[in-house]
Amino acid sequence: VLMMLANQAGMAIEKSQLYEKALVRAHKDALTDLWNHGYFQTVFDNELRLAKEQTATLSLMFIDIDHFKTYNDTWGHQKGDEILVKISKILMESSRKIDWVCRYGGEEFAIILPRATKKDALFIAERIRANIEQQTFQPSADQALQKITVSMGISSFPEDGNNKSDIIREADEALYCAKREGRNRACCANS
Ligand code: GH3
Ligand code: MG
Ligand code: MG
Repeated sequence: VLMMLANQAGMAIEKSQLYEKALVRAHKDALTDLWNHGYFQTVFDNELRLAKEQTATLSLMFIDIDHFKTYNDTWGHQKGDEILVKISKILMESSRKIDWVCRYGGEEFAIILPRATKKDALFIAERIRANIEQQTFQPSADQALQKITVSMGISSFPEDGNNKSDIIREADEALYCAKREGRNRACCANS
């Protein structure tokens, strides 16, 4: 009887571990292993609720690769995909453990920064910008080294908005400001 119970317990544990793995996989982007767009929405709702409950700050950063279409057109989409993977690694390495690094869509990324003020977020953005700028990307062994840059937009709760939609819109506008001002930089909402 004990043997039977142990077997059943073992199977239950294995099942729950498989379920947990499947759940995590469902929330990840297959190419980059970052959190996917759907999970970004869930996490943002949750972090915003926590920030309100704790009267804490929360920042959002959008990151968009500069002139990525040209890179794809020149070297092909598979080489472009390699860039997305490398940039994702740099984003993970350059952010804090508590940050949520997500692939928002296409060549756009979003980082949710719990308890980060705009100044904190700007500091992390500069680290990301510099880490990407100093990296070289080689499409293939016989090709010249290529430089890649990113532009970033930052908004913060509560100063730029009280709800998800406003905070996302403000980060988006800040990102367009960074593009307009010449790319390879971070811009903050309302500044
Ligand atoms: P900007 O500096 O204004 O952002 O210029 P851009 O060329 O990056 O902007 P645009 O929106 O014109 O192009 C985005 C490109 O991103 C177009 C598309 O080919 C590429 N892209 C989007 N998703 C993927 C992907 O999953 N893989 C690859 N390789 N390319 C992608
Ligand atoms: Mg884009
Ligand atoms: Mg782009």
